[in-house]
Amino acid sequence: MTDRPRAEVAVTDVLAAGPTVAEFAEQARAFLDEHAEHRPDGFPDAMFAQFREMDDVEAWEQSCRQWQRTLFEHGFAGITWPAEVGGRGLSPAHALAWTDLEFEYDVPRGLFGVTLEMIGPTVYTFGTAAQKEHCRRILRGEEVWCQLMSEPGAGSDLAAVSTSARRTEDGWVVNGQKVWTSEARHSRYGYLIARSEPGSERHRGLTAFVVDLEAPGVEVRPLRQMTGGASFAEVFFDDVLLPAEAVLGEVGQGWMVAMTTLGFERFTMFGRSFGRLVRQAADLDWDASDARERFVDVVVQQRGLAAFEEGMHARLLAGSAPGPEAALAKLATGRLVSGLGDAVRRSLGAELALDDPSLDDWRLVLLAGPAFHIAGGTDEIVKSMIAERVLGLPKG
Ligand SMILES: Cc1cc2nc3c(=O)[nH]c(=O)nc-3n(C[C@H](O)[C@H](O)[C@H](O)COP(=O)(O)OP(=O)(O)OC[C@H]3O[C@@H](n4cnc5c(N)ncnc54)[C@H](O)[C@@H]3O)c2cc1C
Repeated sequence: MTDRPRAEVAVTDVLAAGPTVAEFAEQARAFLDEHAEHRPDGFPDAMFAQFREMDDVEAWEQSCRQWQRTLFEHGFAGITWPAEVGGRGLSPAHALAWTDLEFEYDVPRGLFGVTLEMIGPTVYTFGTAAQKEHCRRILRGEEVWCQLMSEPGAGSDLAAVSTSARRTEDGWVVNGQKVWTSEARHSRYGYLIARSEPGSERHRGLTAFVVDLEAPGVEVRPLRQMTGGASFAEVFFDDVLLPAEAVLGEVGQGWMVAMTTLGFERFTMFGRSFGRLVRQAADLDWDASDARERFVDVVVQQRGLAAFEEGMHARLLAGSAPGPEAALAKLATGRLVSGLGDAVRRSLGAELALDDPSLDDWRLVLLAGPAFHIAGGTDEIVKSMIAERVLGLPKG
């Protein structure tokens, strides 16, 4: 027996099995049955966790970290990540099988979403050997990261970034402000896009950096959302010193790094998990004809989205890479959440304003709706992307 941590032994053992998707799903089901409560029906907490006002946000953070640690110890963290950093090195189809199964169980999720789906793969792709070590710590649940891209004057138009990184003899000095930074208050590190070439314009002269958010001069101010939660924050940089090795990728290639991050498109199965929500909503009062008509529209949309996702799932299983059609699913997801919120509002009417905790979940669906049309690219931007990349129309 070596003195390696128990977690690494477990990962290596599972890797040796090299499971097919079906075998993997069976192993995953057995693991989940042992470590989590099976709850295929009821409110899908995982989709809305970060929007909710929490009595004890620290306890939620700890439970998410512990779950991530448990996944790592049993070989279910980083399913598509390379074994070199503690991942399983399996296919996207294995990852999809996992996501699909995990949604059926009551587990604390949400905290690591952006870290695992977008930032970790970026750090692995562009990072030095030392930076890649962060990936292993992420998989172990030890590090939460945030994505410092959007600014008050640079959202959809990311090339308008004005946060500056000025070169010094042995590093960089950062000044500026980011906004809408998800999970910043739980994060130890941030992945920053800043303008490193004074006077440069648009996508030229940008560089990506790894920032320790505990560095002097960094201030994180959480922003309260209308849902009651405070999942994102403003982040201020006041003469923050970064070492030379904080650069991620090459100096001046920040745009390419950022576009690679955005290309790690989230492949979701929201249609299926919305089935739970729609089944629950069926118990509300749908006597009023306008509410009933709206609800039926939502049910049709949910079935359509679930079928569309099944098709993508099948293509993935057959070995094709997820294409830009994932953008269609994103657009449909926003419409589904807003449509359901609207139907519920018509059904419950003024009751929604009552101080009745049993209505909290429905209020959350209604109030979270707009975020699904903005986060990760607004509907308008996604539509332009679909027009150009899916339909092949000329640039608008
Ligand atoms: C829940 C949530 C989490 C987020 N998390 C993060 C995060 O972790 N890190 C981060 O960096 N950012 C994050 N964001 C920010 C998000 O990326 C931006 O809000 C989004 O890109 C839109 O930018 P904006 O808010 O500046 O709006 P703007 O870009 O100012 O857009 C305003 C309006 O103009 C429209 N518009 C703008 N340009 C065009 C165009 N060319 N064609 C047509 N219409 C256009 C938009 O569609 C929108 O309706 C988050 C946002 C939300 C809601």
